Amino acid sequence: MDASRRRFFSLGLSAPGNRPPWAAEENLFIARCNRCNLCVEACPQQVLRVGSGGFPSIVFDDAGCTLCGDCVKACQPRALECDEARQPFPWRARIGTDCLPQRGVECRICAESCETGAIRFRPRLGGIAQPELDIDLCNGCGECIAPCPVSCITPSPLEKKPA
Ligand code: SF4
Ligand code: SF4
Ligand code: SF4
Repeated sequence: MDASRRRFFSLGLSAPGNRPPWAAEENLFIARCNRCNLCVEACPQQVLRVGSGGFPSIVFDDAGCTLCGDCVKACQPRALECDEARQPFPWRARIGTDCLPQRGVECRICAESCETGAIRFRPRLGGIAQPELDIDLCNGCGECIAPCPVSCITPSPLEKKPA
C-alpha cells in the first residue's frame, strides 16, 4: 500500500475516499465509471492512478492536482462531472504535529506550494512563525502534501459532503 493510501486509511477514509476531482457521489460514481481510465491517461500531473477494482484514484505522493479539468473532459460516462456548484474534493489539508516549526525549526515550504493562500504563517513573539490553515481557502488540491519535508500534511475529510 502506498503512502497516500495509508494516509487515507489512517484517517478513516476507505479507498473510495480518494476519487479524482469532481467525482460523482460514490454509488453514482461506481455505477457510471466504466474503468476505461482515460482520466488517468489525460492527467498532465500524473496524480491519477488505476486503483482498487480498476477504478481511478488520486494520490498526492509526487504532485498535486491543478484542477485543470482534463480528467473530467476525458470522462464520457460522466462519472466525473464538473459543476461549478460542487467543490472538486471532499477533503481539506490538515497539518500534523510533526510540522517542523512546531518543533522549533524554520520551514514555510507548504505555504510556498499553496496557490490559494490557504496556509499562512503567524509570527510568534520570540519564536518561530507557525502555519495556520484557512479551511475556507483550501480546495483540497494536495499541492502542499508532497513538498513537505516531514510528510506531515494529510487530506482530512470534510464533515459534510461538498454541496
Ligand atoms: S474516464 Fe470516467 S469512466 Fe473512465 S475511468 Fe475515469 S472516471 Fe471512470
Ligand atoms: S483536474 Fe487536471 S491535474 Fe487534476 S486530476 Fe484532473 S487531469 Fe489531473
Ligand atoms: S490542499 Fe491545496 S489549497 Fe489546500 S492548503 Fe494544500 S496547497 Fe493549499
